Amino acid sequence: MTRAQRVIIIGGGITGLAAAHSLQASGRALRITLLEQLPRLGGCIYTERDGGYVMEHGADVFVTHKPEGRDLCSRLGLSLQSPRQRRAYVKNTRGLVPLPNGFSGLVPTRLGPVLWSPLLSLRGKVRLMGERRVPPYRGDAEESIHDFFTRRFGQEAFANILAPLLGGVAGGDLSMLSLDAQLPHLRQMEQQHGSLLRAKRQKSRGSVLRSLEGGLSSLIDALAAHLTDTDIRTSAAARRVWRTGTQYQVLTGDGVRHDADAILVAAPAYAAAKMLASLDAVLAAELAAIRYGAAIMVHLGFGPQAVPRDLDATGYIVAASAVRGAVACTWSSAKFSGRAPRRHALVRVVLARDRSDAVFAMDDKALVTLAREEVHDSLGIKAPPVLTRVHRWHHSLPRYMLGHRERCARIRAACQAHPGLELAGAAYGGAGIPDCIRSAQHAAEALLSERQDLYA
Ligand SMILES: Cc1cc2nc3c(=O)[nH]c(=O)nc-3n(C[C@H](O)[C@H](O)[C@H](O)COP(=O)(O)OP(=O)(O)OC[C@H]3O[C@@H](n4cnc5c(N)ncnc54)[C@H](O)[C@@H]3O)c2cc1C
Repeated sequence: MTRAQRVIIIGGGITGLAAAHSLQASGRALRITLLEQLPRLGGCIYTERDGGYVMEHGADVFVTHKPEGRDLCSRLGLSLQSPRQRRAYVKNTRGLVPLPNGFSGLVPTRLGPVLWSPLLSLRGKVRLMGERRVPPYRGDAEESIHDFFTRRFGQEAFANILAPLLGGVAGGDLSMLSLDAQLPHLRQMEQQHGSLLRAKRQKSRGSVLRSLEGGLSSLIDALAAHLTDTDIRTSAAARRVWRTGTQYQVLTGDGVRHDADAILVAAPAYAAAKMLASLDAVLAAELAAIRYGAAIMVHLGFGPQAVPRDLDATGYIVAASAVRGAVACTWSSAKFSGRAPRRHALVRVVLARDRSDAVFAMDDKALVTLAREEVHDSLGIKAPPVLTRVHRWHHSLPRYMLGHRERCARIRAACQAHPGLELAGAAYGGAGIPDCIRSAQHAAEALLSERQDLYA
């Protein structure tokens, strides 16, 4: 009898767990070990539950028009939770201004609300409507997110609506980020329909954002419970990966060496770069060049009557702020039910986009003060919070700079020199949760087909 083949998955975020799920579901004789450096699973999906509050320190929704998240939840028997609110605000120098209704996935699906929006002048509205007549891009050079949106919708719509929205999706300098790598579906729409407005009109289906009862960690918990044939080890950091012939070795932080026939690295690119440096310096250098944003999440819980206005939206994105560093504010208890005790409110202030932002030097107390100033400024909340939490993401979303697709092609090519090594996750072909699940599934399939000799 041949022995079961050993696969080590490095990283216990959604990508690593979804990869383990796919490998386990393949029915092949595998011994799967998953190594996660933190004491908890989930990575950027991190829900904390305390005293009736449900706090999302990381991701709080996923889209359903990309089916992988929705399908995985359904296979695990999880039902999706729809947002209670649909609208959102932009905060500019005039205060909170509603984002035009029907603005979904960065493109307006209905023009009526845009025409009434105070966010654009008449000239800006005419220019936005003229998007239908802007020919599709025919250039050879990669286009930045800034260039794409200003070309199609004009500078005013970009500055007043799209840039704040995009700040949440992509962050960073939008003139350096690649449209084709970060938002490839928009390029596809442009090429197929000639215009995003026309394409959206045909496809409009309302809100596609969903969460889960008890927050997104319910997905992580359900996956972990389902992975009965996977040896999940938390507080187990992979320090170094190397190869002897066709066999791989992984050294963990406790000094233990693990042998494997195949390795699936589902850790962020900067971490993958470190652990793979002695295996392949060129691959490691390409991985290390992938940049990441940063963020600080401050949750504030408020008792009854503390919030003087109706939380009638999912929150706001900041175009211009009186308070240093505030990027957005999620009205968590209004966005989804069950996020705060009855008659309480929970809001999440997002501070910072980059590690270099001054707020990263502040301690928790100062960050809470900053977040309180923000909600005082925007919502008029004067009462002290009954609950506070601060979470720092030193590396949050990967930023797909111009040239990202070529870099990924070079990474793929370098990996081919190492049969049985696969990389997956947010760093490569999309950072949203469904993208990560798809990437995990592809990597698991690739491992199984690439090493059919081993897995027969
Ligand atoms: C603040 C924030 C908000 C977001 N909001 C949304 C949202 O609302 N919707 C959405 O779709 N997406 C959102 N995203 C993006 C999405 O959550 C992530 O892209 C996705 O969860 C990444 O999953 P992953 O498994 O690829 O990586 P990660 O979640 O980063 O997981 C990688 C894991 O690898 C572990 N690891 C690292 N080094 C090692 C090592 N040496 N050994 C062992 N383990 C290691 C890490 O500890 C981590 O647990 C958000 C991300 C952030 C940070």
